Amino acid sequence: MKVDVLIIGAGAAGLMCAITAGQRGRRVLVVDHANKVGKKILMSGGGRCNFTNLGVTPAQYLSANPHFAKSALARYTPWDFIALVEKHRIAYHEKELGQLFCDESSKQIVRMLLDECTTAGVSVEANCKVYSVRKTPDGFGVHTARGEVRAESLVVASGGLSIPGMGASGFGYELARQFGHAVLPTRAGLVPLTLSGRHQEHYRDLAGVALPLVETRVGKHSFRAGLLFTHRGLSGPAILQISSYWQPGRDLRIDLLPDHEAGDWLIGQRHARPLVELKTVLGDALPKRLAHRLCEQWFDSRPMRQYHEGELSRIGEALHAWPITASGTEGYRTAEVTLGGVDTDGLSSGTMQSRLVPGLYFIGEVVDVTGWLGGYNFQWAWASGRAAGEVA
Ligand SMILES: Cc1cc2nc3c(=O)[nH]c(=O)nc-3n(C[C@H](O)[C@H](O)[C@H](O)COP(=O)(O)OP(=O)(O)OC[C@H]3O[C@@H](n4cnc5c(N)ncnc54)[C@H](O)[C@@H]3O)c2cc1C
Repeated sequence: MKVDVLIIGAGAAGLMCAITAGQRGRRVLVVDHANKVGKKILMSGGGRCNFTNLGVTPAQYLSANPHFAKSALARYTPWDFIALVEKHRIAYHEKELGQLFCDESSKQIVRMLLDECTTAGVSVEANCKVYSVRKTPDGFGVHTARGEVRAESLVVASGGLSIPGMGASGFGYELARQFGHAVLPTRAGLVPLTLSGRHQEHYRDLAGVALPLVETRVGKHSFRAGLLFTHRGLSGPAILQISSYWQPGRDLRIDLLPDHEAGDWLIGQRHARPLVELKTVLGDALPKRLAHRLCEQWFDSRPMRQYHEGELSRIGEALHAWPITASGTEGYRTAEVTLGGVDTDGLSSGTMQSRLVPGLYFIGEVVDVTGWLGGYNFQWAWASGRAAGEVA
């Protein structure tokens, strides 16, 4: 079989690239080794796909080159994707912080992309493994489960390593290395953190306890959102966000009461409720089980009048900078994204084309560009897919 553009990976980036190239009249084939296309779209956003974010800027992306994503993101904006969603009459809503979700189901986004593929004359083949790729004088020869496919352009949209059960593979990284590209070290991002030893023992039985608003901090990066205790550690959006900036050994601080001036508040409580114990007072601002555990582990619980103001100020400071030592992450098994990947130094930021091998493109998560939680990763997939699809 001979096509103009062969795309490996029928996920968000691959399908957007296929639509764009197909609309230009290119003969496009998309192959995916999974039994269904767009599996991550289907499971995303709790089944409702957080398909973009109204506040997208390059600042919400991690990459060794923070400038790389700028061009593609500027040329395909959230409003471009919203226009597509509206054209297909898919109802959506803003949940919080600019995050847009389908009202009904992420299936609608996959349906929309496949309908656009059909209209653009794109062929999409699931259950089609790619075994090897070689360079030919006029393009690429790709050995697939359906035989040899010859293509003028080859687009690698095979994603990262997160959730291997969904079809994730290191194939894109291997292919990049085969063609001389550097691949930056990968690690799990947007992932729950694990605790070990005494930290795990202290907090394990708090599994299920949730705080609606904390502020997590690693170095100069911080996020205000919810936190959830799990059997093995910590999760919730504030933890997932900061996990992309955290690495073993890095100091993680959690402000448990970001909207309080905790020291002043406790001093006020000492005057207002002198006979009430600290754990009861803290239980008014924090989940009771956590308040009691903090008192057992850190501050003994006495009637408020027995604390000096200095002691209460120090307790307040501790609540604003709870030093929790994470031992690791839950890894690719549960991570939403993979940090690192194909080094952007080897790619054109305008087209995603390889600087080393003309006709070869890398798009989406396989590239060293990773967004925050909240629709940013799909927007990168759409934008980078679009950039490559305009030229491939
Ligand atoms: C549980 C979960 C929820 C998420 N929710 C959101 C969300 O709500 N909003 C958001 O913005 N982001 C979300 N993400 C992140 C988002 O899904 C990814 O960033 C995005 O899907 C990346 O798109 P992609 O096309 O680059 O890769 P993928 O969508 O991963 O697609 C890659 C495709 O390549 C195929 N493939 C891999 N190897 C091969 C091979 N060797 N041969 C053939 N095919 C291959 C895979 O089967 C897959 O279909 C979520 C991720 C997870 C895991």
